[in-house]
Amino acid sequence: MLSIAWAPLYAHPLPDNHRFPMLKYELLPEQLLREGTVPESAFFMPVAPPATDILRTHEAEYYQRLCTGGLTRQEERATGFPWSTQLIEREVTILGGTLECARRALQSGIALNIAGGTHHAFRNRGEGFCLLNDQAAAADYLLAHPEFNVRKVLIVDLDVHQGNGTASIFQQEPCVFTFSMHGARNYPHRKEQSDLDLPLPDNTDDAAYLTLLHNTLPRLLDEVQPDFVFYLSGVDVLATDKLGHLALSREGCRQRDEYVLGLCHRHKLPVVVCMGGGYSPRIADIIEAHANTFRAAAAIW
Ligand SMILES: [Zn+2]
Repeated sequence: MLSIAWAPLYAHPLPDNHRFPMLKYELLPEQLLREGTVPESAFFMPVAPPATDILRTHEAEYYQRLCTGGLTRQEERATGFPWSTQLIEREVTILGGTLECARRALQSGIALNIAGGTHHAFRNRGEGFCLLNDQAAAADYLLAHPEFNVRKVLIVDLDVHQGNGTASIFQQEPCVFTFSMHGARNYPHRKEQSDLDLPLPDNTDDAAYLTLLHNTLPRLLDEVQPDFVFYLSGVDVLATDKLGHLALSREGCRQRDEYVLGLCHRHKLPVVVCMGGGYSPRIADIIEAHANTFRAAAAIW
């Protein structure tokens, strides 16, 4: 059975007309339960981890300011969210969810977080709706505990935006291989260097996207020999997405998820899935595409 991290505070109240689709964190678990993809017992409630599990990855001075409202106006604006203690509680809890997912994936093969994939967070700053980098913290957490026997982590970041924070955090870390496939001309306009970047032209369609993925991921698994995978399954690759500029259909996006998860399963690689972005104007397009990730996982495991 799947293990899914979710808490009511994932759906954080934002000002009216805010451009971030916070509602998806409420609608997606509802949809998965209603349609019977997972039973209620699949869900677990994440908790805030001890600060040490955040400070392996983030600078203490930044984290301190984040927790106490000490960001400058400019730093706060870069995050895209109005600061509040509740917002920080949300971000810390989501990070705790990804950590717990990592522990559970080691037991059962897969665990998924109904949020996270906050790959634009750097060690000492946040941007683009990302304040703390949950997958980076979870990778550092696994590597810091020899009893988990995780020596090499592969991050497969298929959100349409480059995983610049993650790339920067692990620039000097040979035990984490960062792979990002993203819109070449999309945000962030100043890209960081991942271990492998595959920049895509605007309007990349299903066939071109999936061919590239099929030609890359098996080779990466051979070369990198990871013993743990983090998958960032952003659905802002959809043609309907207002920020993505790619041209994937919902079916193409579904095949992408099925392919990545199927490959992890066949290689017996534990995998943690975090949702990442999705900005289609119709919330139903976002929910359906994210739901497909969970449906694929439920069908495979
Ligand atoms: Zn994105």
